[in-house]
Amino acid sequence: MPQTTVPTTSTTSEHAENIARIRDALLSRQRILISSHARPDGDSIGSQLAMAYALKALGKDVTIVNKDAAPPPLMAFPGVPTILVAERAEGEYDAAVVLECSDLTRTGVEGLDRYFLINIDHHPGNAGFGALNWFNGDAAACAEMVFDIIEALDAPLTVEIATHVYVGILTDTGSFHYSSITPRTFDICRRLVEAGVDPPKVARSIFDSNSLGRLKLFGAVLSSIELEDGGRLAVVRVDRAMAASAGGNYEDTEGLINLPLTVREIQAVVFFKEIDAREFRVSMRSKGDIDVCAVAKHFGGGGHKNASGCTVRGAYPEVRARLLRDLVEAIQRGRAVGQGA
Ligand code: AMP
Ligand code: MN
Repeated sequence: MPQTTVPTTSTTSEHAENIARIRDALLSRQRILISSHARPDGDSIGSQLAMAYALKALGKDVTIVNKDAAPPPLMAFPGVPTILVAERAEGEYDAAVVLECSDLTRTGVEGLDRYFLINIDHHPGNAGFGALNWFNGDAAACAEMVFDIIEALDAPLTVEIATHVYVGILTDTGSFHYSSITPRTFDICRRLVEAGVDPPKVARSIFDSNSLGRLKLFGAVLSSIELEDGGRLAVVRVDRAMAASAGGNYEDTEGLINLPLTVREIQAVVFFKEIDAREFRVSMRSKGDIDVCAVAKHFGGGGHKNASGCTVRGAYPEVRARLLRDLVEAIQRGRAVGQGA
């Protein structure tokens, strides 16, 4: 069924109206299900658990269900092991809150459409699938939006809630690297630290919990890095054989893609993860005005200007060539914007 995309910009008062509507809907309901996109990231998990703890503090019955498990470095955070991993939502609920998900099918969880849907998201192009929809493309993380809802609910900003909002912001800004950051991001973070968040502890648990095998896998992948577009574009690829010989876990290549951008000249990175010989998970990252979300969208994916992803079918040389054509164009467009042209 065709769906209308929600508006990409809203005024402060429109945001306030959406927040108030969602607050009232949550306060008048008891059993609440929370879901997010498949292969959840730090913003999905942080947003969900912050929301769950806040609603529980208000006496609600809350269940989180996701299609896939949380990334291993997040497992040690409060509440993460209580998240149900399932492909179908079962049971009676008065509302389902879908966080950080541009369309309902991206949850990978069936049956959510049986419930009163509340859609809260910051991804451009959100499909507006909810009974209530709040989109804020200016939020650096969905967790910033959850913070607003928690304030509106007048729920206590406990250290668990604050930590989860911080996890969402820290991870979705690429550790404070992306151009999505606003002054408000820091206003919120200040409040979170005042509420007891320990930033070095959170950063160490998320980013410095590698196994040696994972580090060696990163090494193997990075030593076969290819440079294109005069050194501005890095291409990296991983397949199962590479992971097995390095002793790393194939599922756990999260974070690898960010490393090429630490090279000054590299402006964008594309990472191909082989699912099978004719299917690749593609992740992209960029600096500044280079819009890799537009590239991902062209291939049926999505994300943000500086971090996006898609799944592409075909033999590797052909898939690589198709992506590179778009990426080189995106880099040229981004450079033109950056130079004020
Ligand atoms: P990843 O490279 O998987 O870390 O994803 C980076 C960003 O792109 C995240 O915001 C994802 O939610 C988004 N993203 C990744 N894959 C897809 C997809 N197939 N469709 C829409 N958004 C995606
Ligand atoms: Mn996000």
